Amino acid sequence: MNLTSYFMEATYLVASILFILSLKKMSHPETARKGMFLAEAGMFAAIVGTLVGTHIVTWTWIIAGLAVGSIIGGWMAVSVPMTAMPQRTALSHAFGALAAALVGVGEFVVKGAEMGAVTRSALGFEVMLGALTTTGSLIAAGKLQGVIGGKPIQFRGQNAANLIVGLSMVSSFILFCIHPEMIAAFYTMLGVAFVFGVMLVIPIGSADMPVVMSLLNSYAGLAAAATGFVLSNNVLIIAGTLDGFSGFILSVLMCKAMNRSITNVLFGGFGAVIAEASSNAGGVMREISLDDAAMQLAFANRVIFVPGYGLATAQAQHAVRELGELLESRGVTVKYAIHPVAGRMPGHMNVLLAEANVPYSSLYEMEQINPEFSSTDVAVVIGANDVVNPDARDNPKSLIAGMPILEVDHAKSVIVLKRGQGRGFSGLENPLFFKPCTSMLYGDAKSSLSHLAQAVQHV
Ligand code: NAP
Repeated sequence: MNLTSYFMEATYLVASILFILSLKKMSHPETARKGMFLAEAGMFAAIVGTLVGTHIVTWTWIIAGLAVGSIIGGWMAVSVPMTAMPQRTALSHAFGALAAALVGVGEFVVKGAEMGAVTRSALGFEVMLGALTTTGSLIAAGKLQGVIGGKPIQFRGQNAANLIVGLSMVSSFILFCIHPEMIAAFYTMLGVAFVFGVMLVIPIGSADMPVVMSLLNSYAGLAAAATGFVLSNNVLIIAGTLDGFSGFILSVLMCKAMNRSITNVLFGGFGAVIAEASSNAGGVMREISLDDAAMQLAFANRVIFVPGYGLATAQAQHAVRELGELLESRGVTVKYAIHPVAGRMPGHMNVLLAEANVPYSSLYEMEQINPEFSSTDVAVVIGANDVVNPDARDNPKSLIAGMPILEVDHAKSVIVLKRGQGRGFSGLENPLFFKPCTSMLYGDAKSSLSHLAQAVQHV
C-alpha cells in the first residue's frame, strides 16, 4: 500500500466511526442535532478520502457532478418546506438507489464476465435492489406530494401479477450469477426490477408511506453495501449496512407505534377496507370563544399541549412556546405530549419544538404523559387529529383500532385548535371533537395561539 492508500483507508475508518457515533446520537432528540453534524463530517471525510486516495481518470465529470448535485441539494434544502420533508426524503432515496444501480451497470459494462462469482452476485444484488428502490421511492414521493392519488391502487389478480414479476426478477438474477456471458439476463433483471418497484408500492396507501419509505431507505442502504463489495470499498460496506439495518429498525418502530405489522403495511392495502370500518363520532361540536379559552388557560394549574401535523403546517412552534412561557410565568405547569407518529415523519414534533427552543425537559413521550391527563385541567390539541382519536382505543371496528393514542379525553377540559372540520391523515372522523369535555377553537394554529397569548395577558 502506498501513502495515498493509507490516507484513504484512514479517512474511511474515521468516517465509519463518525457514522456509528452519529446514529447513537440521533437516537435521542437532545443529541440528534449533534448526530447530524457528525454524519455530515463522516460523509465529508469519506468524499475527501475517495477523491485523494483513488486514481482519478478525469476530474471533469467529478466536478460537474459535484456542481450539479450541490446546486440541486442546496436548492432543495432551502426551498422545500418542513411539511414536504417526507417526499423530499423519498426523492433522495430514489437518487441514491439510482446511483448504486448505475455504478453496478457501469462495472458490468467495464468488467463483465471477468468478475468472480461472489463479486458478480454482489453486483446483481446491487443493481436489482437499486433499481426497484429507485422506482418504488419515486412512486412514494409522488403519492406523498399528491401527484399520484394517495389511495391504494389495487386490481384483481394483483398478488399473482406481483409474484410473477418478482419471480422473473429473481430468476434473471440467478441466471446472471450462473451464466455471466448471458448479457440479456442482466438487463432483463434491471428492467424487471424497475417495474417491480412500482408494483410493490402502488397498492400501499399514502398513510403508510413513511413506513414504506424507511423500508426503501433500508433497501438503498443494502444496495450501497453491495456496491461496496463490488468496488472493494470498505466505507460503502459499513455505511450501507448501517443504513440498511437502521432503516429496517425504524420501520419496525413506526409499525409498533401504529399497532400494525410490517406485512400488514406492505400487503394489507390500508384504506381498502374502509367500507367495513365504523366510527363512534356523532353529535355536535361545541365552539369556544378566544376569551373563554384564554380564561381557562390562565386559571389552570396544569396544561398539556398536544402538537400534531397542523402545528407543522401552520409553523406554530414559536407561537406555542411563547404561550407556554407566558402561562408558566403565571405559575401554570406546562408540558408537551409527543406521540411517536404525530406529524408526517418520525421525530417531526421533536424537531419543530427544538427549533423553537422548547426545553427537552418539557417534552413527554406518550407512555409517560398518558397517566397525567386525568389530573390535567386543560389539554390543548394543536392541529392533531388521528393521534388523539379515542376510536383507536374504544372502537374495534375503526380503521385505526389498536393504534396507541394520547388520551387527552381524560383531561378535565380539552381545547382543540384547528381550522375547520377537516379530517386527519387517516380520513376518519374523530369522536373526541364531539365529547362534552371538548371545545373547538377554529382558525390557523399559529394565529389562534398568538391571539390566545394576547388574550391571556389581559386576563
Ligand atoms: P392528522 O391526523 O393528519 O391531523 C392534522 C389536523 O391538523 C387535521 O385534522 C387538520 O384539520 C389540522 N390542520 C391542518 N392545518 C392546520 C393549520 N394550519 N392550523 C390548525 N390546524 C390545522 O395529524 P396527527 O394527529 O399529527 O396524526 C399524524 C398522522 O400521520 C397519523 O395518521 C399517523 O399514523 C400518520 N403517519 C405519521 C407518521 C410519522 O412518522 N409521523 C408515519 C406514518 C403515518 P383542519 O383541516 O380542520 O384544520
